[in-house]
Amino acid sequence: MEVGGSDSDGREFKNADEMWREQVGDPSKKTDWYHQGVGYWQGVEASVDGVLGGYGHVNEADVHGSEAFLKTLLTERYPNAGTDGHLVALDCGAGIGRVTKNLLIRYFNEVDLLEPVSHFLEAARENLSPENHMSPDIHKANNFLCMHLQEFTPDAERYDVIWVQWCIGHLTDDDFVSFFKRAKDLCSIMKIEASPGLIYTLRSSFVIVDYIYTNQRIKGDCLKNYLL
Ligand code: SAH
Repeated sequence: MEVGGSDSDGREFKNADEMWREQVGDPSKKTDWYHQGVGYWQGVEASVDGVLGGYGHVNEADVHGSEAFLKTLLTERYPNAGTDGHLVALDCGAGIGRVTKNLLIRYFNEVDLLEPVSHFLEAARENLSPENHMSPDIHKANNFLCMHLQEFTPDAERYDVIWVQWCIGHLTDDDFVSFFKRAKDLCSIMKIEASPGLIYTLRSSFVIVDYIYTNQRIKGDCLKNYLL
């Protein structure tokens, strides 16, 4: 299906391909595009209000909705995680660690944070330090990676859940697809033979993909891993 549109300068495009060619059609344009995206956040205060674009008051409802979704997923896919599992998550475009602190750290034994804006990442490190955040020893924020998502390849077999909240819209369509493919291939060493790559669209604000059902993995008794 071909859908046309226009950009904020009023330029009309016949379809998404034409828009992407105009925006990032050569390597220098693409570099500029990512610089602008991250450049915006470099000028934003490291606070909940900042990372939520001035809508700090939605924080509680946002966490609540994410938690309901995560619980459903964990109950369905990792029912023994609370007793005999060791779950590891990656928080992508983690900002100041809002999602990790309010949600992921309560459900995962380890959380790594990936964030390209250094003053956000430093704030996340501070917010999640033992002095500022009480969590049992078996739940901790581990690695703070100052990186862009489009350049990141997850370590094979490390993550049970890859969480991308309020951030995927910063990637071009091709980088977005390529990231999912890299993550899918490296989070597992055994493919499901039937029906790999079903996409469920449950709930999201920016994009409609909430998670991708990927493939089987060998790690404890976890059968599947997810991208969120
Ligand atoms: N997920 C966090 C932060 C949302 S704000 C939260 O919900 O609180 C969007 C975040 O995406 C910012 O921290 C910004 O620096 C990050 N971001 C922007 N471009 C990115 C990219 N190319 N790769 C990874 N993160 C990016």
